[in-house]
Formats: sequence, structure tokens, C-alpha cells
Amino acid sequence: MDRLQLLGMDDVELLTFVTDTLGESKFRAKQIREWLNRGAAIDEMTNLSAALRSKLSEIAVANPVTIMESYKSKLDETEKFLYALPDGNLIEGVVMRYHHGDTLCVSTQVGCRMGCAFCASTLEGRVRNLTPGEILGQVAAANRHIQKEDPSRRVHNIVLMGSGEPLDNYDNVVKFLKLVNDPAGLNISLRNVSLSTCGLVPRMYDFAEEGLPVTLSLSLHAPNDEIRKKLMPVANAYPYEQVIAACKNYVEKTGRRVIFEYALVKDVNSDTKCADELAKRLRGLQCHVNLIPLNDVKERNLSAPTRQTVEAFQRRLALKNISATVRREMGADIEGACGQLRRKVLTQAKP
Ligand code: SAH
Repeated sequence: MDRLQLLGMDDVELLTFVTDTLGESKFRAKQIREWLNRGAAIDEMTNLSAALRSKLSEIAVANPVTIMESYKSKLDETEKFLYALPDGNLIEGVVMRYHHGDTLCVSTQVGCRMGCAFCASTLEGRVRNLTPGEILGQVAAANRHIQKEDPSRRVHNIVLMGSGEPLDNYDNVVKFLKLVNDPAGLNISLRNVSLSTCGLVPRMYDFAEEGLPVTLSLSLHAPNDEIRKKLMPVANAYPYEQVIAACKNYVEKTGRRVIFEYALVKDVNSDTKCADELAKRLRGLQCHVNLIPLNDVKERNLSAPTRQTVEAFQRRLALKNISATVRREMGADIEGACGQLRRKVLTQAKP
């Protein structure tokens, strides 16, 4: 039997579990919550009796996510984690240290079924969705890890940009967002959270109605459908105009600007003609463009353009009044990009 994941329970669920399943009094729920926030395991919850801890351990786990390995970049302070899940699946995450605080990149699925041509996470399809406790568990585990070294550190910003398509695991992701924001929980402001999607249009409309002040990042990667379809199969389901319209709706509903992710791929989407066309498509939209020189994925025959091409692309957008920045490459020596580490470990593990 799968053990219950305490970290994935909201306050009402935890209270019901404590009173009805455990037959304990209400204040135990508060005690347990405090331990959960610190990333503690059940046997560390020392203000519970040994008998209760042992009973609890039989049916539940505090945090379903454990850091199996961590790798620190020698180039910057980026640290990559390989996490293990209760069923033996592996996911990965990365924490980046910026002047405004630590940013954690979290995964929402084991693998992914979106099939983007340049992405390592999708090479073997989607294995399964992560539970709310497994998404939150990454934050709790990372927090605990970085605080061991420096108690003043904590995860301040979260980007849902690890493996998986967040809107393809909609209910669990929305529950995670509510949990992580809970003042009695980790209490992270949703203004510090970005959700990145490849553009599942109907879900983007649903998400705009949730009333969560999350920043939406849209993986655009092309100035038109013809090029987008070469890189992203999802473009066959939802045409460009529909994706942009869904972004406009998100801006109107939430008042927050949209971030467009644009991975620059050599000879595919990176010449100035593409920049001009992109500027035209985005005109009048409250947005910012994040340019990412492609992280080479060995299994795919795609690579990044030259630095000059990247800079020319950015200048061209600026000329047309589209704000754009080139994403700083972090953790290049530790397989910093999405899906690469898990894949490396999985392929090495194969005989
Ligand atoms: N499924 C979501 C989030 C996961 S990926 C999405 O598609 O947005 C987070 C970002 O990394 C996306 O913009 C994705 O397109 C990008 N990405 C994936 N592989 C990449 C690579 N090899 N180089 C650069 N960006 C990549």
C-alpha cells in the first residue's frame, strides 16, 4: 500500500487525519505541520510519543521526496539535486542563488509527453504525474538542504520549469500552489512563483480563473506556426493566434505581464527575420521575452547559435520596443538544464 504523504495535505485534511485516523487531539496537527515545514521526517518529530511516531510511520511519510545526490557548480553557486520518490522514480531540480534570494526549479511530472524536439525530459515520454506532496516535497527538501549550510538561506522564488508540463497535471499543480502559499505552511508568495507552459490553451483559460497571482511563462520558441511545429508538437493542437489570445486573457484577468520563453536554435528560429516577425506578433502585449541560447542535448541534432546571433536577435527586438533579456547560463558544468541530469543517471545506470 502507498503510504499517505503528510506534506501534500492541506490544513483540513491534516486535521481530519489526526483526529479521525490517528484518534489524536487537534493540537497534534499543528505540531506535525511545524515539523513538515522544516522538512523533518516522522522519526524526528520528537514532541510526538514514540508509539505515535511508529504508528504514523506505518501509514504515512512526512516528505515523499529525498535528495539522493547533489552537485554544486564550481562556476557559480548553482546546485543541482537528484531526488528519489517512494516508487523509485527519479526527478531533478536546481537551486540558483540570486541577489534577491534563492530560486528553486521544480518538476511537476516524471518525464513529459509534450514531445518538444529540443527537450531531454520528453525523450522517454511521461511516466507519471507528481502528487501535490511530491511537488511541495522538492521545496521542503531543498530548503532543508541549503539551510544546513547557511541558516539564513531559504527558497524565495519557485519556477515550475523542471521536468513535466504543469498544466498537464493541472489539479495537483493548483493544489501545490495553494499549499506552498499557505501562511501556516511554507508561506511563499505566489508573486514569487512562475509557471511555465508549452501552451495548453484550454488549461491556460482555466488557470486564469483560479485567482492565483502566479507569473505565466509561455514557451513560444518561434515567430510563427510553421517554425513552432518543427520544434513543438503542441503547436499542431493549438495554433499561434490561440496561444497569444490565451496569454492576453491571462494578462487581463491577473494584471500580470506574461513572460515568453524563446530558446534560440541555430538555423531554425534565430535570424533577424524571425526577430522582426516575433516583434510584430507580440506588439501591444504586456510581456517580456526571455532569450535562452539552446542547451545542447546530445540526443538531438540541435544546437545554439553564435553569441553574435543571440545579441543581434535581442537588439532587433529592442529596436521594436519588445523588452528582452538573454538568460544567464547557470550551472553549465552540472547538467543545469532540464531533464539532463536524470537522463544522464538513467542512461549510466543501464547495463
Ligand atoms: N513544460 C513546460 C515547462 C518545462 S521546461 C514548458 O514547456 O514550458 C522549462 C523551459 O525550458 C521551457 O521553456 C522549455 O521549452 C525549455 N527547454 C527545454 N529544453 C531546453 C533546451 N535544451 N534548451 C533551452 N531551453 C530548453
